[in-house]
Amino acid sequence: MLPTSLEPTIIQELTKQKSLYDNVVKQFKKAADLMKLDEDIRKILAKTNNEIVVNFPVKMDDGRIEIFTGYRVQHNNALGPYKGGLRYHPLVDIDEIRALAAWMTWKSAIADIPFGGAKGGIQFDPTKYTINELERITRRFTFALGNNIGPEYDIPAPDVNTNSQIMAWMLDTYLSMMPAHERYRCLHVVTGKPIESGGSVGRDKATGQGVVFIIEQWAKDHNFDLGSATYIIQGFGNVGSRVTSLMKRHGSKLIAVEDITGALLNSEGINPDDLIEYVKNHGSIYGYPSAKPIDHNIFLATKADIFIPAAMENQITAETAPMLNLKLVAEAANGPTDPEADIILNRRNIHVIPDILCNSGGVIVSYFEWLQNKRSESWELEEVDSKLHKKIINAYERVRDTAIAYRTDWRTAAYIVALKRLRIVYKERGIFP
Ligand code: NAD
Repeated sequence: MLPTSLEPTIIQELTKQKSLYDNVVKQFKKAADLMKLDEDIRKILAKTNNEIVVNFPVKMDDGRIEIFTGYRVQHNNALGPYKGGLRYHPLVDIDEIRALAAWMTWKSAIADIPFGGAKGGIQFDPTKYTINELERITRRFTFALGNNIGPEYDIPAPDVNTNSQIMAWMLDTYLSMMPAHERYRCLHVVTGKPIESGGSVGRDKATGQGVVFIIEQWAKDHNFDLGSATYIIQGFGNVGSRVTSLMKRHGSKLIAVEDITGALLNSEGINPDDLIEYVKNHGSIYGYPSAKPIDHNIFLATKADIFIPAAMENQITAETAPMLNLKLVAEAANGPTDPEADIILNRRNIHVIPDILCNSGGVIVSYFEWLQNKRSESWELEEVDSKLHKKIINAYERVRDTAIAYRTDWRTAAYIVALKRLRIVYKERGIFP
């Protein structure tokens, strides 16, 4: 039967029992030890700055009231306003949002953009609500957050199960709460908006585009021919689907794909544009006729050159890492690999390009959108893409060179790049009072 809801499966429940924030702490500690990070700065960065939990009522279509729980965790703002996505999912909880918020701090620092880190979400299954209910849930959440977000303070964006429409409702609600003469000074309160409502061209594909820029550079550095490469992808939403259509331009062959409804294989290659069209019409990859259904473990064990996780966290674990049969994991998702799996992949010589570098295209182009709104400008796609390319490849080179200098893996190197930047700012500014 076609699973239509996002009800937690047993596997998801099991992975959820592990604290995601513990993963962040382990990753952070490894880098902090290696670079000998000062004890005081460690103490500050090991904790989140603010954790906002809001319970708010929403009227359903049938007149009933439901109470929802929403979160916004602000990890750190030493480098600039808090920045990070909003997720609508039944497994959202404070631990997950804490971890995602911390990753945003490192991501902005690595990309060298003037943002801190935050993340938020609502714990519910959006597939069970009508479009009108989703609008009221979003608006009421925005109202409940009130001044905890703001264009120069904390700037949300889309993430899992949220999109430009959700951002447009948030924007409209936020602006409606402002005095009339201040409204258009606040367009940059959210990014990932529809173009007509102040969004940036190129933001919808930015995360996927960034992942592909990084894979291109990695291929160049390793004399690896993308034209004859095969890859598998987990997650075929905003990020995953765009990665596949961009990889097609290189001639790389997509041979297996998985989403929440199951996995598919076609060793001759799956046409990404055809699958995107199918998902547009059917809501998921389920039933796609030009590939055969396979189970989760067969998907993970598929022999290919590259694996692009673009779904949820904790997918590559001590149990699943030994199954992988490939050369490169390019982490489009946040937190897909846990620390035990990192050790196994390292030992098996499977290269991992970490999430906080690999998927930073989204926050980079969000920064461009924020800048355009502040300056009342709108840039052309070529300008957005070329600025994204420059920023993300600079970040890639910093991480690569740090990995060589410290003789460490790229995740630890990426943390070191971020922590060095934060250390400078804390040393320069000191601690108030
Ligand atoms: P999305 O909601 O558009 O798509 C999520 C996809 O993952 C869907 O295809 C869904 O079916 C699939 N999925 C969900 N649970 C799954 C499971 N257990 N097994 C297999 N597939 C599953 O979300 P998105 O915006 O594409 O985000 C995907 C990942 O990328 C997330 O980790 C997100 O945090 C990260 N990310 C997104 C952005 C962005 O700009 N949207 C930026 C940076 C990182």
